[in-house]
Amino acid sequence: MKKNIFVKLSVYMMGFGLFVGVLFPFIVVLLGGSPDTTYRFSFIFVSIVAGLVVGVVNILFARLFIERKISKLSVYMNSVNEKLSSSTILKNDLEADHEECMVCDDSTDKIGESTRAFNSLLDTLCLQLNKNKRIRDFSNLLNSDLELNTITNKALRQLIDSIGAKGGALAVEEKGELNLIATYHMINAEQILESKIPWETLKNSKRQYLHIPEHVKIDGLLATYRPSHTLVEPIIYKDILLGIIILSNDTAFEDSGLEHIEMLINNLGMAINNSLAHEQLTRLAAKDPLTNLYNRRYGLKRMKEEYSRSLRNKIPLGVAMLDIDHFKKVNDTYGHLVGDKVLSEMALALQESLREGDIAIRYGGEEFLVLLPGAAEKDCIILAERVRRIIEELVVTHTSQQIKFTISVGVTSFPHCDASSIEDLVACADKALYAAKQNGRNRVIYLNK
Ligand code: GH3
Ligand code: MG
Ligand code: MG
Repeated sequence: MKKNIFVKLSVYMMGFGLFVGVLFPFIVVLLGGSPDTTYRFSFIFVSIVAGLVVGVVNILFARLFIERKISKLSVYMNSVNEKLSSSTILKNDLEADHEECMVCDDSTDKIGESTRAFNSLLDTLCLQLNKNKRIRDFSNLLNSDLELNTITNKALRQLIDSIGAKGGALAVEEKGELNLIATYHMINAEQILESKIPWETLKNSKRQYLHIPEHVKIDGLLATYRPSHTLVEPIIYKDILLGIIILSNDTAFEDSGLEHIEMLINNLGMAINNSLAHEQLTRLAAKDPLTNLYNRRYGLKRMKEEYSRSLRNKIPLGVAMLDIDHFKKVNDTYGHLVGDKVLSEMALALQESLREGDIAIRYGGEEFLVLLPGAAEKDCIILAERVRRIIEELVVTHTSQQIKFTISVGVTSFPHCDASSIEDLVACADKALYAAKQNGRNRVIYLNK
């Protein structure tokens, strides 16, 4: 009984009705009623029945008004509970769910008060869930890729959406320079990077909020809107400054947005750090440490890609195989370490003599392979001849000695050389190199089969 408020209320109401019914005849007598009529069984009976009827009516009213309201509230609370426990509220549109869960009650009594308290609890809960959802979405986005340009561009768009900004830019710091990686609706983001603001943000590792009042003129066009409110936020991971993010708007940012964005930028720091580490590892794995040219393993992969591209786009692909002449003699005369120096300086000269897009690979000990996308027969020969001459003139100094050496080059070009695979094409270049060696070295020979 103690646990059911309506049973308790019913007992009290009926008890009180009974009490009033019993007391009523005495009050009537006290107020001057005739005891003969009042103390008659029928009067007392009717009085008690009337008291009990009032009690029953009270119970019905209580149930009708209070119980109905309370059960409505509990139905709403249960539906919210169900939504939360089945996680539908996390998957669906939170705003719609939120509206659906709200309890409508504009009464000014205590029930209305608890309803309003419930609604405000729901508001806070939805706000928190919304925040968590956005953080989760952002983390998923950051985990979806390892490529720096892709993640920074996607992250910038999402940060702009989260804070309700109009545009922004993201720059990563490398060797003391800020490199612009991603921009959105900013016309001249480089100009901002040239100012002292980003550097101050980096130096102090602290957010800067710039507000340009309406009457102040902004020099130059920086964005497609008036960036009167700009946020410059450092991107930090484990105390390492990685870069900055600029978010701007033509109206002020909301405080809740500013608070939320800080959390997202922390996650972004970790993702940028992973991406840079991955980039560095990939670079290291692809390069030969002595010459800093692509190694054979990575070179074979690139060769296949370039051959497919050439087939697909119907553009020629030149292949040159280079080998240092009598390199064994260099090693024998000056030692292996000097031989290494010759190899690295030759590789540098080779790299510098190539065009952008040409790919130099250390194919073996003192053997190099160069892929020349777009180079047909004539271009291949001109390029190979130029490289041969540059190497011929190259002087490697070791203590007081000056070392000079030459190379032989075998060249071929697809589709002039009708190779059915990249291996065939390389075999053709190898044959041309053999011919160059056989014909006296320090020369270029082109073969197409
Ligand atoms: P050829 O004109 O016929 O090419 O004569 P070569 O002496 O250059 O050819 P060979 O294949 O007989 O010798 C290649 C030499 O290159 C032998 C090897 O010790 C040397 N070599 C290969 N890799 C390296 C390296 O990483 N460092 C040094 N110092 N020498 C290397
Ligand atoms: Mg050699
Ligand atoms: Mg060789």
